[in-house]
Amino acid sequence: MSLVVQKFGGTSVADVDRIRHVAGVVAATRAAGHELVVVVSAMAGETNRLLALARQAARTPDDRESDVLVATGEQVTAALLALTLQDTGVDARSFLGHQIRIETDSAFSRARIVRVDVDRLRRALGAGTVAVVAGFQGVDGEGSITTLGRGGSDTSAVALAAALGADTCEIYTDVDGVYTSDPRIVPQARKLDRIAYDEMLELASLGAKVLQIRSVEFAKRYRVPVHVRSTFSGAPGTWVVEEDSRMEEVSVAGVAYDRDEAKLTILRVPDRPGVAARLFGPIARANIVVDMIIQNASADGTTDLTFTVARGDYAKARALVDETARQIGAQGVTGQTDVAKVSVVGIGMRTHAGIAARMFEVLGAEGINVQMISTSEIKVSVVVDEKYTELAVRALHDAFIGGPRP
Ligand code: ADP
Ligand code: ASP
Ligand code: MG
Repeated sequence: MSLVVQKFGGTSVADVDRIRHVAGVVAATRAAGHELVVVVSAMAGETNRLLALARQAARTPDDRESDVLVATGEQVTAALLALTLQDTGVDARSFLGHQIRIETDSAFSRARIVRVDVDRLRRALGAGTVAVVAGFQGVDGEGSITTLGRGGSDTSAVALAAALGADTCEIYTDVDGVYTSDPRIVPQARKLDRIAYDEMLELASLGAKVLQIRSVEFAKRYRVPVHVRSTFSGAPGTWVVEEDSRMEEVSVAGVAYDRDEAKLTILRVPDRPGVAARLFGPIARANIVVDMIIQNASADGTTDLTFTVARGDYAKARALVDETARQIGAQGVTGQTDVAKVSVVGIGMRTHAGIAARMFEVLGAEGINVQMISTSEIKVSVVVDEKYTELAVRALHDAFIGGPRP
């Protein structure tokens, strides 16, 4: 008998019929003799609907109250799945984040899990009950409800699998695995049988939202084998696992894109020690994450400095930078919110040379201008005009992974 954590995403629990289908998957796993914790997301579209309601109620909704609101989405599906399971003769009980005690910090809307107490779940499992857990939510040290950021139910599931020492964590979703690129925009994308934790971490952080990045961090740290698979077919999906030598034979495992990008340029910044710190200090204090940074040296003692932030942070970052630019005597600030980041990822890049050069060649041949570049050991990312996102992703997929199958 093994212990399995299964997580079902929003489309898998979109309505009562689909929840009944999920109950069937759960019942079959239970009938095979496994102990089972099931984590559910809110019904598809529900989190967005609730966030829109918050924006109707307040011009700048308070983060704490917004979390109280959006956490209800997962409460509804947890109860509905427990009810459906009971109705089909499976002993089941729902648990909210604070009832289990998934303790987080107090960073509302993007909280991090700091401790998971699984005693209550173990008692349920010991009694032969299927534990149905509301994903995405936790509780902070003060008892306030928190949420884990968009896509956070993945992280709830993997964190519980780690804390329980589960044998596997199955992520059931609307695709049948992790693909070489988003199948919605690259029809030729192929399903991967296996992917290394580090590759999945890069893909997730570079925009492939099939798994939330923190879930992959947990999986890697606690060596939880994660199986991403379809709710709607029994086919085996993709295993996210420790890397092995065969994985390095492939230079590029996947192509990712992220439209959630904005770019700011500070023109003619005086080239003096401490100036970069003055520019980025206020941004960091405002909790804005800066991604790529480039600095162009110029001959006249000034430099242009360009960096990217998430699009939602653009207005705030712009206001801060406008102010600092004035104080330090820079010439001005320009910005662009219609940019996207396109990346190629693969642990094979450690041993295959020339990936970046080939990437620039491919983009150049399509007439796509590369605005910024950043590299790590296992990825190359470029910033391009947003309107070229799909073209860039498809061209890179063709070049590195392969075009249409014969
Ligand atoms: P869920 O609601 O089940 O959590 P998500 O919408 O969060 O599902 O994630 C699944 C989606 O991720 C897919 O429908 C797909 O469009 C997208 N996706 C992006 N990149 C990839 C990729 N490389 N492989 C598979 N899916 C991807
Ligand atoms: N319901 C949340 C969201 O839409 C969490 C999740 O689905 O994983 O982001
Ligand atoms: Mg998701």
